Amino acid sequence: MTSNVGQNYPYTSETGEERAAVIARLVAERAGLAETLAAESTPLDARERWWVWKCPTPSCPGLLHAAGYAAEKHAVFVVCDGTCGKTFLR
Ligand SMILES: [Zn+2]
Repeated sequence: MTSNVGQNYPYTSETGEERAAVIARLVAERAGLAETLAAESTPLDARERWWVWKCPTPSCPGLLHAAGYAAEKHAVFVVCDGTCGKTFLR
């Protein structure tokens, strides 16, 4: 029996400082990510903790970190820190 229940629920959380550090590192490592975030998201507000999700990409061990609000503001724009390097909305 397989189940996807839970995959959209947060896996863990991180502090605002941890989140900012991860996103800063990913932006520095990945060409084009800064431009993607600038075009598709707006800056987050200050919070003490942010949710972290498991990446849904098969075989990717990454975690998804909040990088900004999606343009329509109904979702959080998240970036995978793993091998797939994709961005998602949560
Ligand atoms: Zn991934």
